[in-house]
Amino acid sequence: MARVTAATLIRAIDVTPLDIPLRAPFGISGGAPAVANNVLLTVELVDGTRGWGEAAPLPPYNGETQAAALAALGTARTGLVGRDARAWRELAGEFRARGGARCGSAQCAIETALLDALTRHDGVPLGKFFGGAGTELETDMTVTTGSVDAAAAAAREIAMRGIRTIKVKIGDRLGVAHDLARVAAIREAVPGAPLILDGNAGLSRADASGFVRGLKARSIGPALLEQWLPKDDLAGMRALGEESGWLVAADESVSSAADARRVVAAGAAGVINIKLMKAGVIEALEVVAVARAAGLGLMIGGNVESILAMTVSACFAAGLGGFRFADLDTPWFLATNPFAGGYVTDGGRISVGAVAAGHGVCPRQ
Ligand SMILES: [Mg+2]
Repeated sequence: MARVTAATLIRAIDVTPLDIPLRAPFGISGGAPAVANNVLLTVELVDGTRGWGEAAPLPPYNGETQAAALAALGTARTGLVGRDARAWRELAGEFRARGGARCGSAQCAIETALLDALTRHDGVPLGKFFGGAGTELETDMTVTTGSVDAAAAAAREIAMRGIRTIKVKIGDRLGVAHDLARVAAIREAVPGAPLILDGNAGLSRADASGFVRGLKARSIGPALLEQWLPKDDLAGMRALGEESGWLVAADESVSSAADARRVVAAGAAGVINIKLMKAGVIEALEVVAVARAAGLGLMIGGNVESILAMTVSACFAAGLGGFRFADLDTPWFLATNPFAGGYVTDGGRISVGAVAAGHGVCPRQ
């Protein structure tokens, strides 16, 4: 027994910045980063098994920064080295109690690196660890904020890639009329594509009503209205769903299971966008439980993440099963890929079926 335990003791951890340039700025309502300033965490067990976790803070999404993630992860060594990775849940709880909860992306990196090391050691694919319900998802692809022409061109490119669902970032400073023109141009360029319109909490109630009227006047019916209103305006979110008759998703409004319960109690949304970067794997499992109990639809999303973190999210959603929407497209926006392995795609189909153990992603040497 002692020898089994010893093999999964944590020998070392390493924390390093992971800066990946984007092909073009990733514009959302709050800003447009040109580089993914992420963090790579490596956990090494005494038998030499290594596990990797990524923190992908996204300042215009929730204010988290690379500096905050580095600072939080810099404190992890003391709590992890010499401990048994099998106690991953306890170790993650200790990190959270030490302040990890204030930096969800750092919490996510700790939990995924521990789980990756442990499941690689055991020879178990991460999707099987999460339940093994399936190995495939269908992802959308995003049209970021920008000009009307750029939106139409991006939509045509997405369709040519064989991706069905188009997600459109709306709600930046250019206003409702500009966004309506973008959405209309996308609809004209790719008439059959289901549209997810993501406001990243950037619209006022008046803007939202105007947008709904404008879409209806153009006979455009989106598949999903994702977080148009500020995260605490749950009454407004409910009213938006009632006014439009369209499905509404909560994203920024739900970082924790407690947030998910508030959304349920307010009747604010029909779908919750779950992201491991918000508060880690353990909290995301709790959010899934709350959403399922309330009969809400599940969406898996992420920040601007490499193939590493997005493969973890794919393993999570495919392994648990029942996710209606997937938005795991950001590796396509990165100019370089510092990793080998991970999910494979065919058009919008994502598969983690070939992952042999852990999440299957390793840094290129
Ligand atoms: Mg969103």
